[in-house]
Amino acid sequence: MKRGSDEAPWRCHVDVEAIRRVVERANDTGAELIRFLYVDHGGVVRGKATSRPTLERRMVSGIGLTVAMQAMNMLDELQPVDGMGPVGEVRIVPDPDSYVDLPFSPGAAAMMSDLIGLDGQPWAACPRAFLRSAIAEAAQNGLALQAAFEPEFLLARRETGPDGDRLVPVDESLCFSTTGFALAHDFAIDFVRAIEAQDMAVELYHPELGHGQQEMSISHAPALAAADRQVWYRETARGVAWRHGLWASLAPKPLPDQAGNGAHCHFSAWTDAANDTPGATSLADAKNAGSSNAFYDPGDRYGLSQLAYHFIGGILLHLPALVALTCGSVNSYRRLQPQHWSSAFVCYGNDNREAAIRIPSRMWGDDEGSTNLELKASDSTGNPYLALGGLIHAGLDGIRRKLDPGEPVNVDPATLSEAELRKRRVARLPTSLGEALDELERDEVLMEALGPLRRTAYLAVKRSEVASFSAHDAAYECLQHALRF
Ligand code: GLU
Ligand code: MG
Repeated sequence: MKRGSDEAPWRCHVDVEAIRRVVERANDTGAELIRFLYVDHGGVVRGKATSRPTLERRMVSGIGLTVAMQAMNMLDELQPVDGMGPVGEVRIVPDPDSYVDLPFSPGAAAMMSDLIGLDGQPWAACPRAFLRSAIAEAAQNGLALQAAFEPEFLLARRETGPDGDRLVPVDESLCFSTTGFALAHDFAIDFVRAIEAQDMAVELYHPELGHGQQEMSISHAPALAAADRQVWYRETARGVAWRHGLWASLAPKPLPDQAGNGAHCHFSAWTDAANDTPGATSLADAKNAGSSNAFYDPGDRYGLSQLAYHFIGGILLHLPALVALTCGSVNSYRRLQPQHWSSAFVCYGNDNREAAIRIPSRMWGDDEGSTNLELKASDSTGNPYLALGGLIHAGLDGIRRKLDPGEPVNVDPATLSEAELRKRRVARLPTSLGEALDELERDEVLMEALGPLRRTAYLAVKRSEVASFSAHDAAYECLQHALRF
């Protein structure tokens, strides 16, 4: 229904049908509290909840939020940012398409939300609006992105000792070992069921290299849904673990001496925007809509199109800045070390797990569908809307400028000499969040895409985290990130 200007100036379009479907679903499942959620600049998932009787009204009006919340860092330290002080409100307006009942919090449901200004327009610091505009720009180029984050996490017990709290991994099992499967079994089964109950399909599960480290991958989706799914995944891993008396931590390096947790981002670009319409949640939908994989070229040695190479070129060019979004925390840079399979160098390679961009080999039986790229320099402390939006902007810049990514690096870059690295134009990724933020500030494409309010707030929040953690040791930094992510 379209509202006239004599009514509600705060929003021009209210989808009455979609609201009715959500209310019906909440009534059916008996959801008592429905969370309206967003992700802040610190990467933290936050929100407010409404009760079932007030759900319909609140879906129209939104829930009030102080503008200051996008100036809050991951330690709840409020930063001075113009336009984000004690005066002013926006509305948290849920996206009906994102509704999920929360299996790990019976009686609760949730929706991911847009932050809308009182004028009814997307607020200039709304993260979902940033991703939406990147998607729109891709659509102008005739492309629709499919993506999936692939998070790893630590499953642990929280123990209190003489030196304070610490996380102790649930096992000391070996990589992919059946001991690991058995020891985390009860959690893993509940986790699968909880993920599937939220309409996400589980692809694979295995105990990872680190003690207590888990990896369960989910299927990909159009970009906005993929970012939403990363939030549901984070919420679900932690929520299910808590019900088992455990902690799941998706922080990049919850334990300094154990394998880090990536949230590698897999992505592909499809022709025409048909697969980015609401309701298209799978690749099957995309294919039915007559879309084809614009990254795929069976004639190429790696099965990639020229467009895919340009996209890689764009990401490599912007990567030192982009990691400030995809690896968004101080703790992120403890993970991005050479020879830890997390990527530490700005390069791409065929099935190379030390390259920032891996070209994954295709899967038998589905050459086109399985053609994608994997950004390894990505973790779960990044705001997924900013991370994926930034990635799309970087890739589109590569297409626009027809950037050539050069030859792939198909060896471990850490084994190359300084001279060889220079010759191949392979640089080290930023080694700290501060360095990455400096790069971001210098990156005209990403700064322009972020816009004045969002970039000012993001830089202020992240710089404050750099300052706060610089006053503490590694153990404090790891624990604080482990408990929050
Ligand atoms: N744990 C590694 C990381 O930090 C990834 C290992 C792998 O799955 O290749 O990204
Ligand atoms: Mg892994």
